[in-house]
Amino acid sequence: QRHNFLQQISTALIKNHDLVVAEELRSKNLLKNHALALSISDVGWRIFLGMLAYKAKLYGHQFITINPRNTTQTCRDCGFVMGTNGTDKLTLDDRNWTCPNCSIHHIRDWNAAKHILDKGIAKLASLICPYGNLGT
Ligand SMILES: [Zn+2]
Repeated sequence: QRHNFLQQISTALIKNHDLVVAEELRSKNLLKNHALALSISDVGWRIFLGMLAYKAKLYGHQFITINPRNTTQTCRDCGFVMGTNGTDKLTLDDRNWTCPNCSIHHIRDWNAAKHILDKGIAKLASLICPYGNLGT
């Protein structure tokens, strides 16, 4: 049942989007957080990423994975990184937060998702044009 669910979700994502971007696995870090490690292994994230990759090839769409470093902790509006300048890092319980630098209010996952997409587009551009001449 779970496998079937992942098949349906991965097909819908790839079929309906030209570009899908996901965070790379960081199993060592994730395993440090027991609750998260449990839920990640439960969902079969690795299997899911594999499905996305082969379906992207099948449909001729792009699937990109990016380094997850600071996607959650960085303000999309001003670039401030939580945990710097005497601020505390966001925890898993912080679902909403206000940037101490620019005062923009963020929904945690939405802010992170925009970073992930930015990183994916930048990676895609570097793959297409490795010398950075895209758009000039
Ligand atoms: Zn900010």
